[in-house]
Order: sequence, then structure tokens, then C-alpha cells
Amino acid sequence: MPSQPSLKDVQSATIVDPKKAKSFSLKERDTRGEKLFESKKDAKASLEEDAIKINELQDTLFASKAGALLVILQGIDTSGKDGAAKEAFRFTSPLGVMVHAFGKPTEEELAHDYLWRLHKVAPRKGYITVFNRSQYEDVLVVKVRNLAPASMVEQRYAQINDFEKMLVENGTRVLKIMLHISKEEQGERLRERLEVPEKRWKFNPGDLEDRKLWDEYQAAYETVLQRCSTPHAPWHVVPADSRSRRDAITSRLIRAELEAMKLEYPDPGYRLEQYKID
Ligand code: AMP
Ligand code: MG
Repeated sequence: MPSQPSLKDVQSATIVDPKKAKSFSLKERDTRGEKLFESKKDAKASLEEDAIKINELQDTLFASKAGALLVILQGIDTSGKDGAAKEAFRFTSPLGVMVHAFGKPTEEELAHDYLWRLHKVAPRKGYITVFNRSQYEDVLVVKVRNLAPASMVEQRYAQINDFEKMLVENGTRVLKIMLHISKEEQGERLRERLEVPEKRWKFNPGDLEDRKLWDEYQAAYETVLQRCSTPHAPWHVVPADSRSRRDAITSRLIRAELEAMKLEYPDPGYRLEQYKID
């Protein structure tokens, strides 16, 4: 593989093929990303190029209002959801990008159906919205921790697929990315959160409880990837043990998604010769 893989290479290495999703195995996906980017230097150069491109594409999207992009970032604690979003959009105007993080639902959110809080903040035309965690928590943490009856969780896979189809049919592209890290790497990062004063605020004792349920979470993720990788909104599994490779791969996917929109600046709606500025 060349030192900078093409957009196509990155897509085909990360996608969960909807046609074969039923037998998808998460264990077969690597967490290191060295097949795509041999060195961190290559990854950093690629990220730089893509982050610049993402800004240009977002500008065209904002001007044309030709559609919207929803980027869903999922991954267990410390997988790097915040970091990946920060790096991919580091050159993009904050005017056109929104980030929503979904934590434990509030009382008001719990009083509605679980999709309510997500649909409300899905992107309007011209915008990119990043979901840091998403509707998938309602079949991940909710399943693993038994926060809803199993029969309700079971119905949600199809409901989520329908919800996303509705978004796509109404002009929103949905890019779904799972950040895939190893248990060892998570251990390192949790230790780092305790050791580095500037990272301590990120540590939550609940993360250790979730770490004990590692296998259950991996199984719940595998079920999501098997049942919700659809032709209209396929899943991508991004190796996330290396921060620079994770950010480079995520940015390539976002860039590819925006390029697929074939965006163009709109006709200004006036003739240039009408106006003279003295
Ligand atoms: P963080 O992303 O570190 O701020 O943590 C957010 C926490 O909220 C995680 O432990 C999630 O599992 C949890 N969370 C997110 N969505 C839900 C949900 N629908 N029900 C219960 N817990 C949730
Ligand atoms: Mg956390």
C-alpha cells in the first residue's frame, strides 16, 4: 500500500459491507491501522491535507445548502471521539459544524421516545453535525446494563435503520464511524487520565465499571455492526489505538463523504455586470 492510501482504499478497508454484515466479526478488524498508514508521519501529512479539504468542502456545502452531513462517532470510553472530531474539523469554520455529545438522558429526554433527542439536533441543510455517541447508546449501554427490557432493545435495530433511512431520503448523508481500540490501549489511556493533571477531569469511576463489561460491550457493538450496516448508512470500523492514524482515517472518510455530495457553489442569482463598486 502507498504511504497515503486513496479515499477508496480507506473506505474499503473500514466499511462493514451491508451484504455480508450478518456474519461480521469485530475480532477480525485490527485496532492499529498500520496497514493503511505505515508511519505516524504519513498519517499526520494525510490529516493535514484532508482537514484543509474538509474546510473547502464545508464552505461549498454551506453556500449551496445542497444537503447535510451527519457524522456519528461511536466507541467505548477513551476511544477518541472528542479527539477525532477536533482534528478532522481543525480548519473548518465553527459556523458550519455542530457537535452534540449524548450522555445519560435527562428526565425530559426519558419522557420521550429515545430518538427524540437525536432527531431534534440532526443537521439542517448546509451543515455538518457530529454526534459524539448517538442513538446507538440505546442498544449499547442500555443493552449491556439492562436499562430497558430486552424486547424493547430488540425492536430498536430496525427502528434505527428506518430513522436513518428517513434522514437519508430527506437529504442528510449519514456517516457512521466506530472507533475500535484494544483493551490494552484503553488500560493505558485510563491510566494516563489519572496520571496527567490536565486529563484528570476526563476520568470517571464509572469507566472502570464499563471496562469490567468489556466483552459484553464488544458483543453489543458487533450486533450493531451486523444489524445496522445498511446500504443507505453503512458502518465503518476505524482502528483507533494510534491517535494520528485514527484521525487520518476518520478525516479521509469525512472528506470522501463530502466529495460524494458533488457540491458546487450556487448560482449567485444576479448578473455580475449589474453591479459596479466604485
Ligand atoms: P462521556 O461520553 O464520557 O461524557 O460519557 C457519557 C456517558 O453517558 C457514557 O457512559 C454513556 O454510556 C452514557 N449514555 C449515553 N447515552 C445513554 C443512554 N441513552 N442511556 C444511558 N446512558 C447513556
Ligand atoms: Mg467517559
